[in-house]
Amino acid sequence: MTSSPAWRVGRVERTCVRLVAADPETGAPRADAGAGPVVRLRPGGLLDAVVGEPVPPAVGDAVVIAPTETDPERVLLAPRRSELVRDTAGDTARTQVLAANVDVVLVVEHLDPEPKLGRIERLVTLARRSGAVPVVVLTKADLVGDAEQWVDDVERVAPGVAAHAISATTGAGLDGLRGMLEPGTTLVVVGPSGAGKSTLVNALVGTEAMATGRRREGDGKGRHTTTHRELVPAGECWLIDTPGLRAVGLVADADSVDGTFADVADLAQECRFRDCRHEREPGCAVTAAIEDGRLAERRLDSWRTQQREVAHQARRAGDRAAQIEFRQTVRSRERSMRAHHRATGKGRP
Ligand code: ZN
Repeated sequence: MTSSPAWRVGRVERTCVRLVAADPETGAPRADAGAGPVVRLRPGGLLDAVVGEPVPPAVGDAVVIAPTETDPERVLLAPRRSELVRDTAGDTARTQVLAANVDVVLVVEHLDPEPKLGRIERLVTLARRSGAVPVVVLTKADLVGDAEQWVDDVERVAPGVAAHAISATTGAGLDGLRGMLEPGTTLVVVGPSGAGKSTLVNALVGTEAMATGRRREGDGKGRHTTTHRELVPAGECWLIDTPGLRAVGLVADADSVDGTFADVADLAQECRFRDCRHEREPGCAVTAAIEDGRLAERRLDSWRTQQREVAHQARRAGDRAAQIEFRQTVRSRERSMRAHHRATGKGRP
């Protein structure tokens, strides 16, 4: 006897969701994964949740089918393990959940032409923000002689993140990467076009899980062909194929920036002022580390860029909590500056 499947949201449409079937033990796609039921949404595009108010469902959500006598189609959304979000278009304070329950974000970057470490840093930050585990994959390793050096460079700019150099052509490095994808893992793949995302996924799982660029171009409809998000079986794993994730505009926050810039954050602990901006403040450990070569200046530049982005998003979101925190930071900064001036006898009384 086969046990009943665990259901997930495979696709979200305007008035309904399509469910896909996962193995209840492993979470891997079932052979009949795509034959799941279609469930109508409540007005406003909402589904009831196991906990709390009804919410708009996202691709990857886990759901429980819980029929009652009055509502034989009743479906409840389970709490999310992780969420990938981005700003909605326009200037509202709202964010949109692009995908739920993502386990691993593959940050894909080509080795040829030369990888952009700044872009990797940025995508790793965004992956962390979601609650998923970022893994950096450097593709086209067969085209360069210094792939392992790049792996070291990536592990330096993204501390604590695993980096793999692979070649989909020769198969080099694929086994190591496969080793970390347990059955039932839900993957999202991000990175620039030309990095070989589709080729990588197809080589990893041995199927045509992800449409390659050529196929997409070949259908003659241009770049708007795949605007929906979909959870599709990819061997024993799941893949969330969502063009929206490849675009910019995902939400970053201060904590995930600190995770990516653990080296800067560690140094910043030593700064005299808790809220030091590492510009010309006295006793700044970060600028001191740049002066004596322990920290690369471009690292601080990237940190600044991402800090600006976070500040911009906090402003845009009109996030009251962030504004309050900002005002507190300004006040504590003024306090410590005054204390510093008192102690050194300089500046304003
Ligand atoms: Zn500083």
